[in-house]
Amino acid sequence: MSDPDRATAPYDLCILGAGIAGLNALFVACEHLPATARVLLVDRNATCGGMWTQTYPYVRLHQPHAMFTVGDLPWGWTRPAGYLATGAEVAAHLSDCLARLRDKLALTEMYGQTCVDIAEITTPDGPMAELRLQAVDGGGETIRALRLIDARGFDVPQIAALNLSSDQVVSATPRTMDSEGDAPVYIVGGGKTGMDTAHSLISRGSGRSVTMLTGRGTIFANRDKTLPTGAARYWRGHLVLPAFRELAMLFDGTNADAVFAHYRDKYAISPTGGGDQFMFGILSEAESETIADGVDAFIGDYLVDVVDGAAGSEMVLRSGARHAVPPGSIFVNCTGHVLRHDRAYEPYLSPKGTTLRITSRSAVNFLSSVASYFLTHLFLTDRLRDAPLYELDMDALRQIDRKLLHITAVTHTYLNTLVLIDMLPFQVLDRCALDLDRWFPMHRRLAALIDVKMNGRRYAAHCRDALDRVRVDHAVICGPIAARPDHPHG
Ligand SMILES: Cc1cc2nc3c(=O)[nH]c(=O)nc-3n(C[C@H](O)[C@H](O)[C@H](O)COP(=O)(O)OP(=O)(O)OC[C@H]3O[C@@H](n4cnc5c(N)ncnc54)[C@H](O)[C@@H]3O)c2cc1C
Repeated sequence: MSDPDRATAPYDLCILGAGIAGLNALFVACEHLPATARVLLVDRNATCGGMWTQTYPYVRLHQPHAMFTVGDLPWGWTRPAGYLATGAEVAAHLSDCLARLRDKLALTEMYGQTCVDIAEITTPDGPMAELRLQAVDGGGETIRALRLIDARGFDVPQIAALNLSSDQVVSATPRTMDSEGDAPVYIVGGGKTGMDTAHSLISRGSGRSVTMLTGRGTIFANRDKTLPTGAARYWRGHLVLPAFRELAMLFDGTNADAVFAHYRDKYAISPTGGGDQFMFGILSEAESETIADGVDAFIGDYLVDVVDGAAGSEMVLRSGARHAVPPGSIFVNCTGHVLRHDRAYEPYLSPKGTTLRITSRSAVNFLSSVASYFLTHLFLTDRLRDAPLYELDMDALRQIDRKLLHITAVTHTYLNTLVLIDMLPFQVLDRCALDLDRWFPMHRRLAALIDVKMNGRRYAAHCRDALDRVRVDHAVICGPIAARPDHPHG
């Protein structure tokens, strides 16, 4: 695990971040680098697994577990493919994947190390990446690598409790919430974490009062419609590739609201009956019904504070409305996790080509895991610089318009998927077990691929037109990195 040469010789490759994005980069590195290659895996956590080692205890995958993995490494069990693994099971699987890769390279793992700075430097031996690391328990060091994959990916943050003025209520997070008691619970946020929290509380059958503050409302992909189980997979359900194509072809860069409405009507579900944002979460009809029936009230507003007055405690909402709150109520912060970083924009490929970044600020796929798998292939075979991919600043677009983010991210992911299908050998595409379309039988996947082979050029041209329009109309990063006037690739 430790490397005596680390102070003197640069690593052949450094991977920063040991979540699913970093582990997929490592999987691909094992394919391309010799067994003697010196590779460093760095993470500030004490172990690999990223967000799955840190989230709330009742979190589960919302997708079939078989397609949440590293490369094509199978899960070490024989549960039904549709089983929704728990957070602990996901963390254990990711750790097992690392164990299976560990001996394929000269791998050094450094945990408890936060990277505080990355520079691309010129040395007599050529350009390199230089990382400044700070140990969680003090001390620091600088390491160099010929190549760096900054795979911090979504870097899902820990949620903190809300700062509320009232001392009559309890402010909690999904990790600290008292889930056994009978105090009324107010769930702040209607996304995946909020729904998980409501479902977990209601399923306990304690009869406690649960209220959700859902803001503009979130819709979810209907799991029964999109990923049906059993033989229905042969004729029902929606493969991702054709579904993304359908939305992308409807989108002209200016009509995101209409395309979003189409998605909502055809593919989505929501316990509140509607919603104006989609963050790629998945919910079944049964889960949605349990939540819809068990929640006492859905409030389509945003919490500003809880204050104590002569008449007791009150929630203060963004609309100006106020609602009385019983003393002892628990407010659980389930506001969003992802696309909320203040990390600066940096392109997915650094100017001198030493550093690949898996980041939502210069995304090539809405999933960091998939982006990491494919981009690492192109990066380590020196084909990334010339790949006609589009980058998208998803964080900036989220600030502008949530519906536009959804439809643009779908169109952009679809375009880049067409580019990758065109550029990469079949084995590389086939070994990406992250592909949700593997849920469906081969004949349906083949039909989707034949469509792409026959019409891909036309589809890609349409996507580029729509995305170029988004870039111009909203002044957001959405296009080829080579087209950026301030980038040396240009
Ligand atoms: C509640 C929830 C449920 C989800 N469910 C699914 C699902 O079912 N399917 C799905 O595909 N996606 C799901 N997602 C999305 C999910 O976040 C990603 O798919 C994936 O797990 C993110 O992995 P990642 O490697 O990009 O980021 P992370 O898992 O956050 O890993 C990033 C790693 O980088 C490390 N790191 C960050 N900064 C530094 C630094 N400066 N120095 C050193 N190390 C650093 C972190 O410690 C961490 O280990 C879910 C997200 C949430 C919030």
